[in-house]
Amino acid sequence: MRYDPESYRKIVGDEVIADIYKKARKLYGKYILNINSTYQGGGVAEMLSSLVPLMNNTGIDAEWRILHGNPDFFTVTKKFHNALQGADINLTDLKKKLYMETNGNFAIYTHIKHDAVMIHDPQPLPLITFYRKRQPWIWRCHIDLTAPNPKIWDYLKSFILRYDAVIVSMERYKRKDLPVEQFVIPPAIDPLTPKNMPLEKSTIDKFLAKFNIPLDKPLITQISRFDPWKDPLGVIEVFKKVKEVKDVRLILCGSMASDDPEGYRIYEEVKKKAKKLIENGDVILITSENNILVNVLQRVSSVIIQKSTREGFGLTVTEALWKGTPVIASRVGGITLQIKDGWNGFLLDPYDYDGFAKKIIELLENPDLARELGENGTEFVRKNFLITRLILQHLKLLGEIL
Ligand code: UDP
Repeated sequence: MRYDPESYRKIVGDEVIADIYKKARKLYGKYILNINSTYQGGGVAEMLSSLVPLMNNTGIDAEWRILHGNPDFFTVTKKFHNALQGADINLTDLKKKLYMETNGNFAIYTHIKHDAVMIHDPQPLPLITFYRKRQPWIWRCHIDLTAPNPKIWDYLKSFILRYDAVIVSMERYKRKDLPVEQFVIPPAIDPLTPKNMPLEKSTIDKFLAKFNIPLDKPLITQISRFDPWKDPLGVIEVFKKVKEVKDVRLILCGSMASDDPEGYRIYEEVKKKAKKLIENGDVILITSENNILVNVLQRVSSVIIQKSTREGFGLTVTEALWKGTPVIASRVGGITLQIKDGWNGFLLDPYDYDGFAKKIIELLENPDLARELGENGTEFVRKNFLITRLILQHLKLLGEIL
């Protein structure tokens, strides 16, 4: 059974598995509730869909609920998300009202009698104000908090201060101006999901045919929601530069997350900008949500690019490294935890278009280098960013808090 920690034994070794069961012992029968705002799309849903069932297999009662909201709510919370990453915001009373009302409505229909509550990201953050608090509440922030817009930070802080603990993805995201206990837990990937499991060649061929992706030229791929912070327009610029030297094809694969209303707008912008390239087949845009397709693309591409201008962590980087595919990415946020420049990938300034193009060409011309980076990438992820480590850290933290 995939969700049995035993299945992970071959990948991470006996000690890790024994340690998971040992740490879980203190927590038998505890009800832990996770709340976020989408079942599909984006890194948070990706992680919860493995973490929750795996925790259940260790004797904990882990649960996952979704905060429902209408499109206006998600427009507001995406603005909050952007502002937390430093963008400007007009923080009107109307926005605050929508934010609070949606959370309040959820609370009317949802009883929380669990032993601990884990709230993911800003959308369900104010829920805490609608409950009589009977258990520890933890805010799990997946966003880069180094330079938030002061207005939004001050507003959201009024909720965060009520929490018992905050988890961020890297040391740098801890806030000195937040007198709440803060823990660092980097995200992780599950090596046994359809997105990350090994694939037969026949499956790869089937998916390439299904999505009309020819392999007559090397593929450069970015897998990311169509989001300004992922800079798909910048990727097109880089691609044009590479194309002057090498005949390659670009794939931008970005499914639409239900809690990210910006997706369609950015997708249309990209489509417009790359119109000619799309028409002649040099650029392929994909919006389907398909885990095996992502797996296939991360395996067959010559280079995976992640040209984000901000990145809380960047699970897409982890996923590609795990598959031994070389990654060229921006030196921002959580990507810097994952790539050691020149050892398991390359890091560049996000606006260094020439640099990105040069490194892509270098890798295309040097398969030995690509292989070496790939091998280092796989081992680095095995040691640091697999779901088993994430479970251990969660169990440890819950053990301390409960
Ligand atoms: N993803 C996907 N299909 C897509 C685009 C993204 O399944 O078309 C997944 C991707 O594989 C990764 C997650 O969505 O697991 C994105 O996580 P990441 O941390 O990179 O970025 P986020 O979207 O959370 O900002």
